[in-house]
Amino acid sequence: MMTEKIIIFDSTLRDGEQTPGAKLNEEEKLKIAKQLARLNVDVIECGFPISSPGDFKAVQRIAKEVKGPIITALGRALKPDIDAVWEAIKAAERPRIHTFLSSSPIHMQYQLRKDPETVLNMGVEAVKYAKKYTDDVQYSLMDATRSELDYLCRVVEAVIAAGATVVNIPDTVGYAVPEQFGELIQQIMNRVPNIDKAVISVHCHNDLGLAVANSLVAVQNGARQVECNINGIGERAGNAALEEIVVALTIRSDYFQNYHHQVNTKEIYKTSRLVSSLMGIPIPVNKAVIGTNAFVHSSGIHQDGVLKHTETYEIINAELIGGKAGQMMLTARSGRHAVRHQLQELGFTLHDTEFEEFFARFLELADKKKEVYREDLEALMNENMTHTASIYSLEYLQTVSGSKSIPAAVVKLKKDDEIFVETETGAGPIDAAYNAIDKITGFKPRLEKYNLRGVTEGRDALGEVSITLEYQDKTIIGRGTSTDIIEASVRAYLNGINKLLAQRSNDAR
Ligand SMILES: [Zn+2]
Repeated sequence: MMTEKIIIFDSTLRDGEQTPGAKLNEEEKLKIAKQLARLNVDVIECGFPISSPGDFKAVQRIAKEVKGPIITALGRALKPDIDAVWEAIKAAERPRIHTFLSSSPIHMQYQLRKDPETVLNMGVEAVKYAKKYTDDVQYSLMDATRSELDYLCRVVEAVIAAGATVVNIPDTVGYAVPEQFGELIQQIMNRVPNIDKAVISVHCHNDLGLAVANSLVAVQNGARQVECNINGIGERAGNAALEEIVVALTIRSDYFQNYHHQVNTKEIYKTSRLVSSLMGIPIPVNKAVIGTNAFVHSSGIHQDGVLKHTETYEIINAELIGGKAGQMMLTARSGRHAVRHQLQELGFTLHDTEFEEFFARFLELADKKKEVYREDLEALMNENMTHTASIYSLEYLQTVSGSKSIPAAVVKLKKDDEIFVETETGAGPIDAAYNAIDKITGFKPRLEKYNLRGVTEGRDALGEVSITLEYQDKTIIGRGTSTDIIEASVRAYLNGINKLLAQRSNDAR
């Protein structure tokens, strides 16, 4: 039987990056985009080019370097926005322009301050304008679920007539409920005469926890593109989670038997961890599909059942998403060849100098921790890659703490070929070390959030610290890993400061 393909449109790098505090730098965005290509999503939406020069550059780089998926970026239905989108994506193998305008009375009246006919014409003009650049043009009707159906259908018809190849019906504020949303899609499919000339897309937000359910019901009613994000991140409560949609379509292929997707599910686990780590947003343990508890059975009856026959209580096999966690991989005696091989298995290819730097960090870790797991390698890699922008590096750290002593820290940093040493006290050893670093760098960012997680189980586990720093209206995430949580905290702080410095020199350019 011929099944219909569901186009998976990933917006982790656009809507997902709008998650508060999840700002990524260019290298990090590129790294996620390359992993999304390995995951084999159909479309990568990677930014909003007119919003900032940094965003523009990142989109441009992804368009040049990431092969496979369609590369798109977003802009309002205005010529300068569309020009910026095209300039940024034109080098892609398959570029798509994505433009949008609101269609709900509340948005048109209060935000746009324009009447519905003017808004409709703006949309049509925007599509025609984008069409001069490329054939692949997507139009989104923002706040569609709170729009009037007649008007919605008129806009959809008009933008398709103007040349839109994909029309997106977003539930921008996460207001829809499944049955109603399915009916809305069906109404559009039935009422718009030229609907067969375009793909209908949906983009659901999770304010009521219904984003995935709404997306799936839309598919059953005619939508053929689903916009979703890794780990369900995105504005406010987030967007529909990519991994949940894909795994639901896979596991319940008996129910969704008329559809298929082309995502390589074995890359889900890795993509999920990468996004979580680079954005500094932990994955809740009970998160569907990818939470660490998703494959843990604690009830005695369930354990008994799973031991006798896995499928008694487990519908998803961890291997489906490439997530066999906790496998021992390497020790201090593993040579360069073995380490390089494991990195390749995880999808990382390093140049010789990068590899040597990584290998030194690996040996340091393997000395302290007898067994190195794949999660450890990933955590090290995620810290390592930000070294490219490194300006200050940690040479030496000594801290004093205890119930009767005044916490103090000696920090030695290297910048270019210069060495700086400072000693400071503080409320605790981490505070003391941060004070010493501030003295050296001259920055004094505000610590907004501090997050510590054990990368694996056990007393010798690698600790991963992610912190959110605020400095002069800029929010930066820093990450550091070590078996010593104070050192991990210091590395995270330096990582954040180096990013601040890199951003400054970027903005100055
Ligand atoms: Zn959105």
